[in-house]
Amino acid sequence: MKQLDMKSLVSYVALKVLGGSDFVLDALEEYLVKGDGPATVAHRYSISKHQLRGYAQRVTEKSGGELRAKKIVPILREIFKDTEPVVSKASTGMFVCKICGQSMPKEDTEEHIRKFHKEVVVLAIKNSMQKLENLKKAREQVIFTSTNK
Ligand SMILES: [Zn+2]
Repeated sequence: MKQLDMKSLVSYVALKVLGGSDFVLDALEEYLVKGDGPATVAHRYSISKHQLRGYAQRVTEKSGGELRAKKIVPILREIFKDTEPVVSKASTGMFVCKICGQSMPKEDTEEHIRKFHKEVVVLAIKNSMQKLENLKKAREQVIFTSTNK
């Protein structure tokens, strides 16, 4: 069985949120946890079913399985609820970086942030891991400490 890779999971989600896809965790909660149909959820967030399944697959992989992903998605929502995207959508449909003002299509936002604003990503990951630690202490969640053999 695969291991939970929390750091990798948090890094993945952080970049999605910072890059303007801050709906990802909501969409995954509806799709993976509540069990809403992929077409319904994809439509709700104006993405394709293919994209939604892609997000679900990556998160499930990094969680170490679907059952664990279902437990972790709500926790990720909690720790990322105050994280704001670094880009905002302009009336032209392009995305504008709030830090340097550069305009770009949606598909380039994550690479832009990773390349030019790495410190923001590092900080978001650090803060999220810290929040996770705090939650862990508060709730003593078994899922974080369980080991798979
Ligand atoms: Zn920028």
